[in-house]
Amino acid sequence: MDIDLARTWVQAIAAAVDKHKDHLTQLDSAIGDADHGTNMHRGFSAAVAALAALADLPPDTVGAVLVKTGTTLISSVGGASGPLYGSAFRAMGKVLDAPTADTEQFAAALAAGLHSVQQLGTAQAGDKTMIDAYAPALAAFRLTADSGSDFAAAALAAADAAEQGMRATTPMQARKGRASYLGARSIGHQDPGATSTALIFRALAETMASR
Ligand code: ADP
Ligand code: MG
Repeated sequence: MDIDLARTWVQAIAAAVDKHKDHLTQLDSAIGDADHGTNMHRGFSAAVAALAALADLPPDTVGAVLVKTGTTLISSVGGASGPLYGSAFRAMGKVLDAPTADTEQFAAALAAGLHSVQQLGTAQAGDKTMIDAYAPALAAFRLTADSGSDFAAAALAAADAAEQGMRATTPMQARKGRASYLGARSIGHQDPGATSTALIFRALAETMASR
């Protein structure tokens, strides 16, 4: 990962969110307030614009790109997902204080991001949130990287694990966020935030494969 790839990753997330905006909103209309697609779209479009606005003073570390992304998500998104993803990107960025990052450093950054989501949202695995896609993605990234595979292979494994985790949220009962107000009626619906997390990891895999 380098500074350009970090920027490309954020652009790829924005493109994926744009493409899947209606689907994310549809999922959120079943167990939330039908704004997840709008929230994600607003946040990542703003992040792409904020990064483009830095053209005169470009970021000099991978982390600077991710911190800017996180700060922009926090300031532009009203829903729960804005502060949660925003804190994740900021925490990731703080770890990546260099112009490049290897798989080990990136795994540490992903872990810091997950930790900050859990600090802020206090969700555990199985609560039917973005954690249920994020945690398995991190585990798969680490396992694949530790076996000696390259960044692209680790990111691909992470994306596959995130999608599996996303699908596994369907039978869960929500214990955090708006969907938890529905109690048992949240069962049988895929979590919107786990779905956007899967898009974020798929965008990472595609970015790292295109290098
Ligand atoms: P809001 O719920 O405020 O309308 P969004 O619709 O944008 O915000 O995001 C909803 C998603 O946020 C949920 O599907 C879930 O994955 C995630 N989420 C909500 N609360 C938490 C939490 N406490 N911890 C982790 N993720 C959460
Ligand atoms: Mg919502």
